[in-house]
Amino acid sequence: MNFLRTWLIFLLIACFCAWLLPRARYRSIVIHHTASPSDSLASIRRAHGARGWYDIGYHLVLANGQAGVPAGHLEVGARYRWGGYSVATRNKWCNVTALHLTLVGNYENAPFPQHLQPALANAVRTLCRRYGIDPANIHLHRDCSATACPGRHIDRDAIQRWLKTDPEAVPQALAAQHERALRQTLVAPLPIGLSVFGLEIALWSIAHRWRKRRRSGRDEPVQSGGPQRGDIE
Ligand SMILES: [Zn+2]
Repeated sequence: MNFLRTWLIFLLIACFCAWLLPRARYRSIVIHHTASPSDSLASIRRAHGARGWYDIGYHLVLANGQAGVPAGHLEVGARYRWGGYSVATRNKWCNVTALHLTLVGNYENAPFPQHLQPALANAVRTLCRRYGIDPANIHLHRDCSATACPGRHIDRDAIQRWLKTDPEAVPQALAAQHERALRQTLVAPLPIGLSVFGLEIALWSIAHRWRKRRRSGRDEPVQSGGPQRGDIE
């Protein structure tokens, strides 16, 4: 019973850390574009996988309605799920302290479509609320390192303007999709909890053997040989 109680406390602490760490770390949002007319999480994953990365270099992808993903939908990469850092820029500080959101499309060549502006604003607003990020801290990839990303048609003033648009302009179904997507960090505590569980089992096993050895040292000579019943190997 004692063991179960200790493990539950460990698990609660692990869940709390997994919840707290990304909130303490992400202080800004960095906007990118894919510089391609059609892309999705799956196609970016293939391209970034070829660089040897375990998943996309960004945290999140905002779809433009191409590549089979509805316009304005948010797709969530593994780096977001695990509260991990991005590898999307050459600036390590930007990579570690910001959430990186990429917009599918090439905004060097064409303006950001009007029908996607409320979706971008909603995604940014939801992220700011969820991670306690100041909406003034929305940056572009080119603020972090030498690049044209996310294209000359997207600048910080335009993003701030879109952020002021009426939240009611976002269809309810789309806002719900963003909420659902951004909630997917909840899986993170599970593996942490399980690894803590493994550690706990190991410590318990050591303590159990030590107690058993002390007891048998007092009562009778220590049995040598193979594992005894009840021991965890
Ligand atoms: Zn970029």
